[in-house]
Amino acid sequence: MALLQISEPGEATAPHQHRLAAGIDLGTTNSLVATVRSGAAAVLEDEEGEAIFPSVVRYGNDGVSAIGRQAREQAAEDPYNTISSVKRLIGLSAEDIAASSASMMFQLVETDSTVPRIRTDAGPKTAIEVSADILKSLKARAEQSLGGELGGVVVTVPAYFDDTQRQATKDAAKLAGLNVYRLVNEPTAAAIAYGLDRQETDSTIAVYDLGGGTFDISILKLERGVFEVLSTAGDTALGGDDIDQALVSWFVGEHDITVGEDAALQRSLLDQARAVKHQLTDANEAQFQIEYQDKSYCSSLSLETFRSLVHVLVDRTLKSCRGALRQAKLKKTDIDNVVMVGGSTRVPIVRQMVSEFFDQDVLTDINPDEVVAVGAALQADVLAGNKPDSDMLLLDVNPLSLGIETHGGLVEQIIPRNTTIPVARAQEFTTFKDGQTAMALHVVQGERDLVRDCRSLGRFELRGFVPAVAGQARIQVMFQVDADGLLTVSAIEKISEVHAEVQIKPSYGLLDAEIETMIRDSMTHAEQDVAARMLQEQRVEAERTVAALDAAMSRDADEFLTASEKQKILDAREYVVQSGKSDDAEAIKNALRELESVSEVYVARRMNASVGETMTGKNIDSYQKQDNPS
Ligand code: ADP
Ligand code: MG
Repeated sequence: MALLQISEPGEATAPHQHRLAAGIDLGTTNSLVATVRSGAAAVLEDEEGEAIFPSVVRYGNDGVSAIGRQAREQAAEDPYNTISSVKRLIGLSAEDIAASSASMMFQLVETDSTVPRIRTDAGPKTAIEVSADILKSLKARAEQSLGGELGGVVVTVPAYFDDTQRQATKDAAKLAGLNVYRLVNEPTAAAIAYGLDRQETDSTIAVYDLGGGTFDISILKLERGVFEVLSTAGDTALGGDDIDQALVSWFVGEHDITVGEDAALQRSLLDQARAVKHQLTDANEAQFQIEYQDKSYCSSLSLETFRSLVHVLVDRTLKSCRGALRQAKLKKTDIDNVVMVGGSTRVPIVRQMVSEFFDQDVLTDINPDEVVAVGAALQADVLAGNKPDSDMLLLDVNPLSLGIETHGGLVEQIIPRNTTIPVARAQEFTTFKDGQTAMALHVVQGERDLVRDCRSLGRFELRGFVPAVAGQARIQVMFQVDADGLLTVSAIEKISEVHAEVQIKPSYGLLDAEIETMIRDSMTHAEQDVAARMLQEQRVEAERTVAALDAAMSRDADEFLTASEKQKILDAREYVVQSGKSDDAEAIKNALRELESVSEVYVARRMNASVGETMTGKNIDSYQKQDNPS
């Protein structure tokens, strides 16, 4: 396993020169920026003393008309121009979005571009642009409070973010004028905030992150100062928003209110629900009240009722926790620390239930909605070179297997999921046809055996290598995933040394829900996959054999075979072709065996003849010349 020392970007820094660096938690609901000052990391506040920056942007005719808290407060006035939860879209295609629940939240512009755009009064906006607007505000806040330009930042991303989502996040930061030292996984940042990386002994850490609209559980392993993400699980449609929604349903039921399509009413109900929920962190009772169409509705919510509403949701998160443990092959008792992350873990019953589940006290000392930004700030400080002696090490894993399409639509895995990154793996492939001088490479991501069940990441071609007999060319394909989790694929044909490379660029990515489904599918479909793979392999084999046979027979069938021998082979060939069209792997296999056996004579005669030919085709002179070059 390659260990990675992260001190590169700041190595040349003079000791007295302190570089301004910040950590940014770019959240679905809320974002924060933090920095290290006099050795301690802290979040940066706005003029009103607020650290939390709602990830909400409102657009008007002239561009951004409100952002952050202001935009969220005004959301009910202008719901269609107010973009929130844009992180759910980043790195996704229109197709991805259409298939997800996020489609309900955004009005997408119809275009033929692969990058989806949200309709706003300021024109169509991509998720990257909206994220960049949020990042610009955080940059401004940091530079104002630090009194100088930022040298660089660490931006956090969910551990399950795939290549395109990471790349898109980086692009958003670039667009905001930020220099990104590195992307760091959110759970890793949280663990660093607690200083768990500086523990004497090795440990296993569970990071429980219940935010506004997502739940993530990550199991990290810390070994000799190295972090590894052992597993991640979660639910991309579960968070504080669901608590709010549950409160609204309760309230609407109490008063028999019909909400319908009224977006403004929906917003005010949700705003009130959130306020009530926050109150119940410290109180035993709260008043839920709204004014609507000159009428006033009010109910008192007891802590008891609130707990019963939240209980169901927490139970769902615990199911994911079990899944993550199983995937990491660990028991609850193997977990040494449980870190609580996300604003929703402020809810006392959440803490209590998680604590009971893991049978230990959970870590809540650092503000759960600030902890990720704090960890990111500590990382940024190291990367800026402000702590030259730091030996902080960091490892993450790639969330899904990466591979290449081979003949017949099969996937050859090159880097299995959960491999620690950075990583480089190479594999050799060969050509399928005689005289082939080019090869198309198709990079895919996913857990299934067939390409059509995986996600296509990119295609490129390797051209102009020396033609050779099928199976003789040696094409080495190299997959490299860097520390940010970004993939580069290169290929080289070893004989002619032709080289080609592709960086997997953001077009769109996987839905995180899709990642879960893909992982689950690979388990439930394992048997089916084996059968599908067998069938596909047999088909490829049949195709290959028929092609080779046809090529040979067109050259010299009449020379080596009697008419009846030839007919026998052609019959067997036809049998292979026909069974190749069926879904019966066994039948194809039998047909191939039959063809092989009737062709034996032919193959033998050709071979003998070809040995003879090489010997007789050249005279002694040419052999001697070759042996003794003058
Ligand atoms: P994200 O990581 O999704 O951007 P956060 O970690 O900031 O979001 O969590 C936001 C959620 O936390 C919201 O649903 C918010 O209502 C909830 N939250 C914040 N403070 C409290 C509190 N005191 N009690 C209950 N929920 C809270
Ligand atoms: Mg978060």
